[in-house]
Amino acid sequence: MAAESGKCPLCDKNASVSSYNSAYDSVACPRCGEFLATDDLIDFLPGMKGIFGQRYILSGMTRWNTERKLRPISLMTSNVEGFISDYSALGVSDKACKLLEYVKLKSRFPGDEVRISLGTDYPVAFCNNVGEFSYYLKFLRESRLVSQLADQPLLTITPEGWAWLDEHNRTNVDSSKVFVAMWFDESLRPAYDEGIEPAVTSAGYDSVRIDLKEDVNKIDDEIIAEIRRSRFLVVDVTGHRPSVYFEAGFAIGLGIPVIWLCRKGSDELHFDLKRQALEERISLAALLVKALREYLKDQRRTRENVESK
Ligand SMILES: [Zn+2]
Repeated sequence: MAAESGKCPLCDKNASVSSYNSAYDSVACPRCGEFLATDDLIDFLPGMKGIFGQRYILSGMTRWNTERKLRPISLMTSNVEGFISDYSALGVSDKACKLLEYVKLKSRFPGDEVRISLGTDYPVAFCNNVGEFSYYLKFLRESRLVSQLADQPLLTITPEGWAWLDEHNRTNVDSSKVFVAMWFDESLRPAYDEGIEPAVTSAGYDSVRIDLKEDVNKIDDEIIAEIRRSRFLVVDVTGHRPSVYFEAGFAIGLGIPVIWLCRKGSDELHFDLKRQALEERISLAALLVKALREYLKDQRRTRENVESK
């Protein structure tokens, strides 16, 4: 497990690369953050053209995952194309927004000055290079969302910037949390451990299941708070527990999207649910990742439609 110096497969610059297990190497890059990658991917990525030429998008994903202190993303030849296409539609204002979110994340208090390093921080705005990143810095300054002392790489979010972030965060569009509502029965544990949790994690989100959180003082308040903070919910109605339907209904009322699941062959569902019938745990993970991607694409389309009006 000794760390070796090596080349980052995402940005081609110096990084620490070490053997993680028989399948993966662990990469720690000052630009792209920490992630796992298979040997064949490390060999394959640098020479590839076409969609893989946009591997800087993966740098953005892995860097944000690291900044959010989530479990490292596992990259392999079979999943990188999907990840790239998920994020390739990010527009100019999306990228400027990512940079502002980063300054917010690093601000210890309102008015704090946050040091930005052009050479290592460009992936936080999903940029291909320092030149593109400099443009988003200028974008935020000229939009008066941040202030910057002349010639100093120190950014401060302005009152307009905070107001803009509040507005933007109202529907949790940048939340990394996915609340999982399901029956806490041993028979469903494999569906969570081997299906839902890995699927949510591999899509770049952090799955929250309330019985797995320690120190829950008052379960109802905790559930309500976690649902409010979630980007969306995964709801498995197998077993038809009233609390599961309550949690889904509460989220829908807040405008938070719900992805429905039910074990194949389970009793008739309550309500007319758009659902995925699932037989195997493997297909559960695959289907959920697909559902997340379709959902994210829909969101992007909706936003583009709104912006073009
Ligand atoms: Zn890198």
